[in-house]
Amino acid sequence: MSVLLLADHDKGELSPSTARLVAAVSAFGPIDVMVVADNPDAIAANAAALAGVSKVLTVTAQNTSESVTNALLSAAGRYQYVIASAASVGKDVVPRLAAALDIQPVTDIIEIHGPSRFTRPIYAGNALETVVDPQPKHLLTFRASAFRPAASDNAAPVEKLDISIASAARFLAAHRTDSDTPDLATAQIVIGGGVSVGSAEGFRLIEKLGKTLGAAVGATRAAVDAGYAPNDWQIGQTGKIIAPDLYIAIGISGALQHLAGIQGAKTIFAINTDPEAPLVKIADVALIGDLFEILPQLTAELEKL
Ligand code: FAD
Repeated sequence: MSVLLLADHDKGELSPSTARLVAAVSAFGPIDVMVVADNPDAIAANAAALAGVSKVLTVTAQNTSESVTNALLSAAGRYQYVIASAASVGKDVVPRLAAALDIQPVTDIIEIHGPSRFTRPIYAGNALETVVDPQPKHLLTFRASAFRPAASDNAAPVEKLDISIASAARFLAAHRTDSDTPDLATAQIVIGGGVSVGSAEGFRLIEKLGKTLGAAVGATRAAVDAGYAPNDWQIGQTGKIIAPDLYIAIGISGALQHLAGIQGAKTIFAINTDPEAPLVKIADVALIGDLFEILPQLTAELEKL
């Protein structure tokens, strides 16, 4: 059995999600990681260091979904598993691959029970289904945050694939929000703020606590819609899926669409004035009170540590 795994990368750096995918699928067989990028060398070097990687294949091409799909298609025939993360690139590329290879993909896997048996959330995370994939070749996407990362103690060989990638699409520019906080999807601690935070200035309190804890900061859709937090902070069914060790939910009611994004959180700490709020009910620890009183005190105490 052999595995072709697509590396996720951003700004010329390997994404932490790739280490998690490598560890997740290491039982499937030798793993070849494919890096498709304008300058793949530095990314490939980091991928080659991941424990469990047999080989890194580099393709020099723009990171458009068309190029990545064509690069994967050029090699996919030799592998029994083709794997990507259930993040934006994987979501874009895997349906194209599925159509080209005539395979039914299994997406959003959060648990592996065997070579062809997987658990994935359905109905916006309100139920989990376990499926058996009877196809001889498997096309799978994984929620990276559900798995622990592989160690970086390997030195796998890097092989340049000399193929020309046809693509009608051309990458022009990326418009992104620059942030020095950890990535929401892979952070170990996430602090989420709700609409009751009241303003973008109110969110500065949450960011301050985030800096103190080295946490990523997220928000509910209501807070994003109110303009208090940027779109890419949204957690939930129509936002990002998180699976941190600790989720601190501040002034968040716990609507189903928000809960759909936090089901992988291992410990939940809620701050809310309402003891009956659904998020308070599912929290491991809850502080009932006004976030504007609790937050500054909590941050000040943590800063002393
Ligand atoms: P509210 O529900 O208004 O809750 C505010 C909470 O703050 C309450 O629990 C209240 O007790 C508490 N509070 C008030 N004042 C204070 C205070 N001073 N101190 C402490 N606590 C206080 N939502 C998402 O989050 N993510 C999604 O991806 C998402 N997708 C959606 C998709 C669809 C199709 C739809 C219809 C909705 C979606 N929503 C999503 C919206 C969702 O239904 C809720 O409206 C939203 O999550 C509520 O956000 P909230 O908890 O900030 O606000």
